[in-house]
Amino acid sequence: MAKIVVLGAGISGLSTAYALESLAKRDNLDVEIVVLEKRERAGGKMMSVKADGFLCEWGPNGFLDNKPMTLDLCRSLGIDVNLLRSNDNARKRFIYAANTLHRLPENAASFFKSNLLSWPGKLRLGCEMLIPTKRDGADETLADFARRRLGREALERLIAPMVSGIFAGDPETMSLRSCFPRIHQLEQEYGGLLKAMAKLGRQKRAEVKAGKQVASAAGPGGTLTSFEGGIQDLTDGLVKKLGAEVRTDSGVTWIEPKQGGFLLHLEDETQVEAEIVVSATPAHALAEMLTQTDEQSAALLKKIPYASMNVVCFGYERDKITMDLSGFGYLIAKGGKRNTLGTLWDSSIFPNRAPEGQVLLRSMFGGATNPQAIELSEEEVKQKTMDDLKLIMGIEAAPDFVKVFRHRRAIPQYVPGHSERLVELDSRLDSIPGLFLTGNAFFGVGINDCVNASNQISDKVIAEIKKRG
Ligand SMILES: Cc1cc2nc3c(=O)[nH]c(=O)nc-3n(C[C@H](O)[C@H](O)[C@H](O)COP(=O)(O)OP(=O)(O)OC[C@H]3O[C@@H](n4cnc5c(N)ncnc54)[C@H](O)[C@@H]3O)c2cc1C
Repeated sequence: MAKIVVLGAGISGLSTAYALESLAKRDNLDVEIVVLEKRERAGGKMMSVKADGFLCEWGPNGFLDNKPMTLDLCRSLGIDVNLLRSNDNARKRFIYAANTLHRLPENAASFFKSNLLSWPGKLRLGCEMLIPTKRDGADETLADFARRRLGREALERLIAPMVSGIFAGDPETMSLRSCFPRIHQLEQEYGGLLKAMAKLGRQKRAEVKAGKQVASAAGPGGTLTSFEGGIQDLTDGLVKKLGAEVRTDSGVTWIEPKQGGFLLHLEDETQVEAEIVVSATPAHALAEMLTQTDEQSAALLKKIPYASMNVVCFGYERDKITMDLSGFGYLIAKGGKRNTLGTLWDSSIFPNRAPEGQVLLRSMFGGATNPQAIELSEEEVKQKTMDDLKLIMGIEAAPDFVKVFRHRRAIPQYVPGHSERLVELDSRLDSIPGLFLTGNAFFGVGINDCVNASNQISDKVIAEIKKRG
C-alpha cells in the first residue's frame, strides 16, 4: 500500500486528498492518505465566522462559476444543492476615482457614457488597436503592460483596482504573464486586447447562431458563488466526505528524504513516514521544511513574496446608511491615497450575511502597496477604515458590530521571474523523487485555480504510483 501524506488542509490540500482518493478508487489502487495541518482547524484561508447574526468571511467570500472546477467538486461532494449565487444587483461594481464612485462599465455603450475615464483616457484606450505586439519574451510588469497598451489612466482606474481586488497586489511589481496569462496570450495571439475581443465576440455570436453554444447568462466574469453557511461549507464538505484522516495541530518542520520515501518531522517532535508527499502549504512554509533538505529549493520558494492584509467587517443598522447599497461594492483607483483598497457590500451580495434590518460591509486594508498597515493596532485599523467609509460612502455613524481579521501573509505575489523560478524549482525537485507541490503560491490564487492545480497534481501522483508498481 502506498502511503501519501498531504501537507496543509486549505482548499488546495483538501481537494488534492479528495482527488487522490477518487483517482485511486477509479484505478483500483491501494493507497493510504493522511492530511497534516499545522493549525487547530482545517480550511486554511477559508473560514466563515458567525457572530451576533452576521456571517463574516475571514478570507474568500466565494468563487466564480464561469470555470467548472469548483462547481464540479461541489457536485461530486453533493453540496451543490446548498450553493448560493450572488444577487443580480451584485453585478453593479464601482471604482472610486477622482473623489467619486463610478459604476464600472459592463459594455462598450456604458463605457463611452461613463466618467470613469476622461475623454483623453478613453481615446488612449481606443488606440490599443494600433499598439504593436511586444514579442521580446521579457516578463513585463502589469503596470508596464497597461501603460504601453492602454494608457496611464486605464492603469490607475481599471487595472490597478483589479490587481488589488484579486491579489492585494501592486501592478508595478507583478508579472503580467504569471498573474494574467490569458491577457498575455491574447496580445500574442490576436495582436491586442480590443482585436481579440472583437474576434472572439464574432466567433461566439456565430456559434450561438449555429446552435453550437448557448450565450452564458453569467457573462464573461461569471457569478460569485458561495453557500448558505459561507465559503467554509466547501472545506467542511471536503473534510466530511474524505476517507483520509485530517490531522490538525500537526505542523511539519522538516521533510527528510530517506530510502523509498520520507520521514516527516512534526512540531510535537513525533514523526510520520510517507512514500509520497504533496505539499499544499504556502511557499514560505514549505521553504522552512526544505531548508535542511535542499537549500536551493528553499531559496527559490522564499523568493515568492506575500502581501499582508487586514479584513475589516463593519455591521450597521440599515437606516444609519443613506447611500444606495445595491451593488457589489467598490475598489479604489491607484493614487487615491486612501487607507483601504476597497469595500465589499457583503449583505448586498448574498442574502443572509447580516441580521434583518442591518448591513455588513467588508473593507480590505493593506496589501502590497501598504505593507505597514499590518503593523497598526486594531483600533487604528478600525479608525482609518471608518475615515474612508465616511469620505467615500458618507457614513458618519460608528459601526454597531466590528470584526478585524489580520493576515500577515495573505496572498502570494507573482512577481517578474515567477514562471522561470517555477521551471527551476521543478527541475530541483527532480532530485527529491516523491515530493509534489500544489497550492496558491504557483499557478493562480483563485479558488478555481487551487482546485484545478490540485486535480492536475493528483494525476501526476497517481501516474507516479503506477510507475513504481
Ligand atoms: C482576504 C482574502 C480574500 C480572498 N478572496 C477570494 C475570493 O473571494 N475568491 C477566491 O477565489 N479567492 C480569494 N482569495 C484567495 C484564496 O482564498 C486562496 O488563494 C486560497 O484559499 C488558498 O488556499 P490554499 O489551500 O492554497 O492555501 P491556504 O488556505 O493558505 O492553506 C494552506 C494550509 O497549510 C497549512 N500549513 C502551513 N504550514 C504548515 C506546515 N508546516 N505543516 C502543515 N500545514 C501547514 C496552513 O495552516 C493552511 O491551513 C482570498 C484570499 C484572502 C487572503
